[in-house]
Amino acid sequence: MKITRQKHAKKHLGFFRNNFGVREPYQILLDGTFCQAALRGRIQLREQLPRYLMGETQLCTTRCVLKELETLGKDLYGAKLIAQKCQVRNCPHFKNAVSGSDCLLSMVEEGNPHHYFVATQDQNLSMKVKKKPGVPLMFIIQNTMVLDKPSSKTTHTQDLKDVTDSVSYENGRSRKSAAATSNGVDNKNKGQLTKHPLAQRAVERRGHEAKIKMEMEQVLEIKAKGGVQNLEDSEAELPQHHGQNEERLEAQHKEGEGKWPWFEEERLIGKLSNVSLEQQNSLGTLAKNREKGTIFSTLLTSSYL
Ligand SMILES: [Zn+2]
Repeated sequence: MKITRQKHAKKHLGFFRNNFGVREPYQILLDGTFCQAALRGRIQLREQLPRYLMGETQLCTTRCVLKELETLGKDLYGAKLIAQKCQVRNCPHFKNAVSGSDCLLSMVEEGNPHHYFVATQDQNLSMKVKKKPGVPLMFIIQNTMVLDKPSSKTTHTQDLKDVTDSVSYENGRSRKSAAATSNGVDNKNKGQLTKHPLAQRAVERRGHEAKIKMEMEQVLEIKAKGGVQNLEDSEAELPQHHGQNEERLEAQHKEGEGKWPWFEEERLIGKLSNVSLEQQNSLGTLAKNREKGTIFSTLLTSSYL
């Protein structure tokens, strides 16, 4: 067994394992032609198949294949013996048997859910198997088993699946990302696992839009809050304005009488002739401050009006 052949088998098997869920034990569906070729090539399937595929294998066939071999007579007696040692998998033709090729084809319908390999020398069956995605195909050439490379149908289906997965994955991811951004959570790993550049850009654009929207909402929220605060401030200032207006009116009233309030205090200081100089100064300062304060207050009030 050449190493390159096994390398190819490993590579192809890896593709089916990674993309179509093919797992050990590998289920190899044999037809009469494959059994016949194995017999002629003196290939010990039970020994050589697991070695070639580097994993546990199960040799399987169907009732239809066995029935076909029986009807073909003694020329295929050896092949029939090989097939009879295989595990028989249930096919849907338990009432009316069909040809081996039709039967095996029906076993890999609808996406090959049981992950069967089809092993045949029948060119017609091989062509039909290749048109179904995700079905590993085996044949014998020059007395050697070969796992065929994944068919173009298989690889094309996988390419489409990759793109679809990528888009649906990114759609889901962008929804999550937008939700996370809206909640104020910074998604630092955004786009790291992105496969498709177009999907990547779409995600970035959506993320950017979400960010802008979030920032706008924050600004609006702040404005709304600020507006309320301004109103509250204005309301707090209203009584103050009112008080200042009262003071101003009172001052104007007293001014009209030609009598500022601090005159009374100075007069009072003069009356208190027996108080100490220090106390007089203190009272004088109080009067001066009162004067300044009133003028300042009046100026402030004027500036408000
Ligand atoms: Zn059948």
